[in-house]
Amino acid sequence: ITASDLVEHSLDAVEAHESDVNAFVTVNDRQALADAAAIDEQGIDPDNPLSGIPIAYKDNIVTKGIRTTAGSRMLENFNPVYDATVVNKLNTAGMINLGKTNMDEFAMGSSTETSYFEPTKNPWDLDRVPGGSSGGSAAAVAAGEVVAALGSDTGGSIRQPAAYNGIFGIKPTYGRVSRWGLIAFGSSFDQIGVMTRRVKDSATILSAISGHDEKDSTSSKREVPDFTQFIGQDIKGMRIAVPDEFFGEGIDEGVKLQVEKGLKQLEQLGAVIDHVQLPYTKYCVPAYYVLASSEASSNLQRFDGIRYGFRAEDVKNLTDVYVKSRSEGFGPEVKRRIMLGTFALSAGYYDAYFNKAAQVRTLIKQDFEKILSDHDLIIGPTSPDTAFKLGENISDPLKLYFKDVLTISANMAGVPAASVPAGFDDQGLPVGMQMIAKRFDEGSIFKAASAFE
Ligand code: GLN
Repeated sequence: ITASDLVEHSLDAVEAHESDVNAFVTVNDRQALADAAAIDEQGIDPDNPLSGIPIAYKDNIVTKGIRTTAGSRMLENFNPVYDATVVNKLNTAGMINLGKTNMDEFAMGSSTETSYFEPTKNPWDLDRVPGGSSGGSAAAVAAGEVVAALGSDTGGSIRQPAAYNGIFGIKPTYGRVSRWGLIAFGSSFDQIGVMTRRVKDSATILSAISGHDEKDSTSSKREVPDFTQFIGQDIKGMRIAVPDEFFGEGIDEGVKLQVEKGLKQLEQLGAVIDHVQLPYTKYCVPAYYVLASSEASSNLQRFDGIRYGFRAEDVKNLTDVYVKSRSEGFGPEVKRRIMLGTFALSAGYYDAYFNKAAQVRTLIKQDFEKILSDHDLIIGPTSPDTAFKLGENISDPLKLYFKDVLTISANMAGVPAASVPAGFDDQGLPVGMQMIAKRFDEGSIFKAASAFE
């Protein structure tokens, strides 16, 4: 098999599904075929499992010469002049960029419906959302357009769409993967991660993108293990904490049932299960939306209509350039976050909102550290529900925000977390089981997740 065969196969699948699914903003067909031909000329490296394999990138990961929109009108025609570190690394490993996937605008959302480029549909049921914000990456993998895609996760954007699409998605430890070239949303939460069907593929790709990068001062100098070593390892004696709060009010019965089944399976394989409490869970959502929006309001100041991106026409003066470009370039959800964040950071409200939320973050982090000090994993559902109907929640932002209740805490604490496919609810929709580990212990997640394959 050649790299060209693989790219052609992927492009055929894109051709077959894109009109229904809309997982891609940009399909990189010509360049991908050319890159494959170049690899074939030298022959696929048999010792390198990534050589010649097509992959898709969420459209907030910058790609040199390939438009990178972040799902926004603001960047509709933005052609970056450099590659993100993760793209560089995977190019070097011989992977082929098949295209850029659809997402909620600037990664703000949980359904991919805030994209400027029309929503993505869930391949399991085209009337339903794929989740978000990495909904395009998840749908592309679930529809078989690619075997792997990268996503980003600020408050659940890899794990929740992975759950809704029945695939494996991992958000590594904060600092594990360089954020250089990731269009920033909430910089103290953002992490790039991997979305695949197979757990082992994920381990291979995560090993390739991890590691220190001098261009991202928050990237860790820790040694990166070969994560594939954990695949299929015995889980006997693994200590698993199951928080009561993750099975409380507001969590679908069908979701609970499947996750409980998954826990039973782990128990049969020798894992030891403890029931624990994470009392601050109820404060996660409000604290996250204050903190992430505050960071976003600062990060998004750079889109001013001057330096790059969308610029409004018919402007009279400089203020007009700023105001009109931002009014026309950003969609409603992004504006809501900018206003919320600007308010929370403003003099007089800073202590009441930003500071208070930062204190809550510390408490949540301590909660996690305590439980993870004598457990290998925390397990519960990834999302309170399964994929909902398109249009069902988009007019009620608060309702949508509360769907992140189970994923946000891992970003608050900076710990690695993944969603593992855990069967289907009674409507035949995929359910995700979330596994959360200690900082830099992605290995435990790979170990336990691979037990389900
Ligand atoms: N749904 C969350 C939000 O809208 C998380 C998004 C993300 O992880 N990028 O902020």
